[in-house]
Amino acid sequence: MGYLLKNATVFTDNEFKKTDIFIEDNIIVSVGAGCYNDSVSFDFNNLFIFPGFTDVHVHLREPGFLYKETIKTGTMAAAHGGYTSVCAMPNLKPVPDSRENILEEVKAIENDAVIHVYPYGAITVGEQGREMADLDGMAEYAVAFSDDGKGVQNDDMMRAAMLKAKSLGKMIVAHCEDNTLLNGGYIHKGKYAELHGHKGICSESEWKQIERDLKLVKETGCKYHVCHISTKESVELIRQAKKDGLDVTCETAPHYLVLDDMDIQEEGRFKMNPPLRDKSDRLALIEGIKDGTIDVIATDHAPHSKEEKSKGLKDSLMGVVGIETAFPVLYTELVEKNIISLEKLMELLNINARKIFGIGSEIKVGEKADITVFDLNAEYKINPDEFLSMGKSTPFEGKSVKGKCVMTMVGGKIVWKA
Ligand SMILES: [Zn+2]
Repeated sequence: MGYLLKNATVFTDNEFKKTDIFIEDNIIVSVGAGCYNDSVSFDFNNLFIFPGFTDVHVHLREPGFLYKETIKTGTMAAAHGGYTSVCAMPNLKPVPDSRENILEEVKAIENDAVIHVYPYGAITVGEQGREMADLDGMAEYAVAFSDDGKGVQNDDMMRAAMLKAKSLGKMIVAHCEDNTLLNGGYIHKGKYAELHGHKGICSESEWKQIERDLKLVKETGCKYHVCHISTKESVELIRQAKKDGLDVTCETAPHYLVLDDMDIQEEGRFKMNPPLRDKSDRLALIEGIKDGTIDVIATDHAPHSKEEKSKGLKDSLMGVVGIETAFPVLYTELVEKNIISLEKLMELLNINARKIFGIGSEIKVGEKADITVFDLNAEYKINPDEFLSMGKSTPFEGKSVKGKCVMTMVGGKIVWKA
């Protein structure tokens, strides 16, 4: 028995067309009008079918922090957001820094994930920056290597890790942050911090380390991807590195494209790392998206408990959830406002991740049926109580958006349905 999805506007072959999709035995058997007996049929007239989105930067918190999120709740939230593939960051307990430790995570994924989850291996033991992790031992399971949550402070360590990753045919995915420049800051060192007496994180703390890494990439030839860039200087450095022919890519997150420091309120849901920057940074990031300097939009979905996020700007933990709001926020703020096309958004949420990381989905005959269905006319206010994620802290709470996920399939199996 198969599924016949009829009359939707489908993103296939890099364009949108109104057609039918037939799915059987987990596979897309046909894209085009046809008649199939013995199938469950859905009429998706007025709806869109996208290839399932890929998020290369999420925190699923398992193993180690099950009170914040689990692989089960995190991947259900992802399916609810239209995602069928995610890459899970390694700031876990135990940190996946050895074969044994990454296998603990892999087992939990096999048991509980409802979508595809690709774990990162850590760059250094315990993400402590002192000793290189067992990259060889993890290579079979790790999608790439990252110490996300922290920058690798030591230049020699980063150089050695790049050489090792390169020898394994793997990418370094870097959270760039120079600890010597932080000075106890917790929101952007800009207008809002000054007006309200908060300690700020300067932009240099991010772009200085990107600048260092780009030198090391030039030296080592390692394939390199920068996490969640937030400053205009970062955009310019990466733009130049690409012009220079380096094998460099990067991501930003929806909140950096839509909000800036003057949108901050005195609540933990406006606190994340890197912080919401200046308006000029936000506009530079949008330019970076338009001209292809920024390759992918990742959410940096980072759930914490209610208590951890309820201590105001200074004392709440850093990190906000995002996987259930990314598409509607980006569609509403970028596509509906004619800043980018819906085709471009497909590049940012799916196509480029496939090119860079070699993971994700396509709507094409013979491909596994990883798809998501959206109603782009559905208008609603973002309500964290409706999230499947255990994390509820988002700067987009109460925001009016368009675009609701109606159904998500992974390997032809319905994993979310409204
Ligand atoms: Zn990070």
